[in-house]
Amino acid sequence: MTVKLIDPFQRPISYLRVSVTDRCDFRCVYCMAENMTFLPKKELLTLEELDRMCSTFIGLGVEKLRITGGEPLVRRDIMTFFRAMTRHLDSGALQELTLTTNGSQLERFADQLFDAGVRRVNVSLDTLDEDKFARVTRWGRLPQVLRGIDAAQAAGLRLKINAVALKGFNEDELFTLTEWCASRDIDLTFIEVMPMGDLGNEDRIGQYWSLDDLRGQLAQNYTLIDLPERTGGPARYVQLQESGQKIGFITPLTHNFCESCNRVRLTCTGELFMCLGQEDNADLRAALRNHPDSNVPLEAAIRDAISLKPKGHDFDYSRQRADGQVSRHMSHTGG
Ligand code: SAM
Ligand code: SF4
Repeated sequence: MTVKLIDPFQRPISYLRVSVTDRCDFRCVYCMAENMTFLPKKELLTLEELDRMCSTFIGLGVEKLRITGGEPLVRRDIMTFFRAMTRHLDSGALQELTLTTNGSQLERFADQLFDAGVRRVNVSLDTLDEDKFARVTRWGRLPQVLRGIDAAQAAGLRLKINAVALKGFNEDELFTLTEWCASRDIDLTFIEVMPMGDLGNEDRIGQYWSLDDLRGQLAQNYTLIDLPERTGGPARYVQLQESGQKIGFITPLTHNFCESCNRVRLTCTGELFMCLGQEDNADLRAALRNHPDSNVPLEAAIRDAISLKPKGHDFDYSRQRADGQVSRHMSHTGG
């Protein structure tokens, strides 16, 4: 029997997030610069290499795979990859195949995703105001995303909205977003803006809206019941007593839940990041490409990388500086 992946702090690694492209059809202000330079195609893992990589992780005990980016649905032929992963769902080795998307291509792909075995999708949406949406995503158009959300629900996909909490931007939409999600039976999670990537265009601390504060505002209109639910990630959940709705909080800045972290992140070039908030990574692409006929070196490289997983990240705004900043953009590691 294969020995599963356990890190030095005795955390079992059962969750892999995979960025399948660094490209995107949006340019969200907190994620990318407007004129990004993307990687040359040969740097990217091919769809076959992504399959081999993910299948190896699944062989080592990964049970949950989340596909992200960049925007995963803009990668050419990405459905071929999703369909290839269906065999691991069918065999029972993989318990969940999920996706984080900006929603722009969901109208086109929702049915195919469902057919491939995807059941839950996270859609990133920070505002329901068309002008504000165009401002924060620079290139995005809200009606297209809303059509994608309709299509996904019609296809039977369970949705969660991820909204980055931005001071002075969507503070006034806290209740609108909450009620809109409740009316559509969509879960909602708020995320604190993280100091990723030197975008040179903004003031991170000025943008930062603490979720402790957001939670306090929510509590003015609703009774919040803390839920014990844990996913091994940084999210904590409450239920709104009045509507029964579930709201999540991802608080890398105000609270650090690294002690139960069960995940690692693979970039589209085959680097494995053991922690979103640290620079350390392992080059798995070499182990894969240099040994086309054997996965043994790749498995060894994965085990070596996991043995270096750090205890946690060092993001900290408490000294009114964006401490712990990492220089990569979120689109590189996939959020
Ligand atoms: N393009 C897809 C999307 O937007 O959902 C997937 C990739 S995107 C990098 C994944 C998530 O990271 C999104 O929910 C986005 O809002 C979030 N994100 C990007 N930059 C961030 C930052 N600096 N701080 C917090 N969240 C960020
Ligand atoms: Fe693209 Fe997602 Fe980054 Fe926005 S957050 S620029 S949609 S990768």
